[in-house]
Amino acid sequence: MEFEIQKNRLIEDLRLHGISERVLEAMRRVPRHLFVPEREHKNAYADHPLSIGWGQTISAPHMVAIMCDLLDIKDGMNVLEIGAGSGYHAAVMAELAGSGHVYAVELIEDLALFASENLKKAGISNVTVIVEDGSLGLPGFAPYDRISVPCAAPDISDTLIDQLKPGGKLVIPVGRAIQELYLVTKINGIKKEAKGGVVFVPLVGKKGFPF
Ligand code: SAH
Repeated sequence: MEFEIQKNRLIEDLRLHGISERVLEAMRRVPRHLFVPEREHKNAYADHPLSIGWGQTISAPHMVAIMCDLLDIKDGMNVLEIGAGSGYHAAVMAELAGSGHVYAVELIEDLALFASENLKKAGISNVTVIVEDGSLGLPGFAPYDRISVPCAAPDISDTLIDQLKPGGKLVIPVGRAIQELYLVTKINGIKKEAKGGVVFVPLVGKKGFPF
């Protein structure tokens, strides 16, 4: 009950910040406390990132909301997430994709397991978590309608653009210490829109930053 009250408060805050009703509804359906370690339960509905172990973080709720709004995920879409972490962001995207599917790639095996267990607890069945270097995308299930990258990339790689459908969208933070969040649409080549400064943990791997 306490979690419900805290979640409603968070949703109201996000509404005041202009997040769409569709994304707010998806967030309302996902119990964020099931995606954080028990020691962070009291902070599960606070609007900031939290440690999930292995040096990684679950993004702040407003960041998940903004990225979901930018991506405009519709029912039936095929979505790729690079960096599953806790699985929370994938869960929200899965609610938006409805009859579609989310492939969430995670480099750290233990975190992939954590994400899979959390998704199961939350009763979300249209997400597949895969242990892989997502800096190369996930060619096996491409092309994607949407790609979400919740970690800081050195650049916008052609490898990811190649795995998007025509008209598809990618949201990605680019830079080292502080990043610019880009919305990239694959239309007449690519259309690149800067959406403001953000701070994410790094994307590592072959087309990411070195380990
Ligand atoms: N979306 C997550 C938070 C992402 S944090 C959530 O909702 O909790 C970024 C994640 O990206 C970390 O878990 C990190 O291990 C992962 N990561 C970093 N580089 C990666 C790569 N090359 N491939 C897959 N995952 C990667």
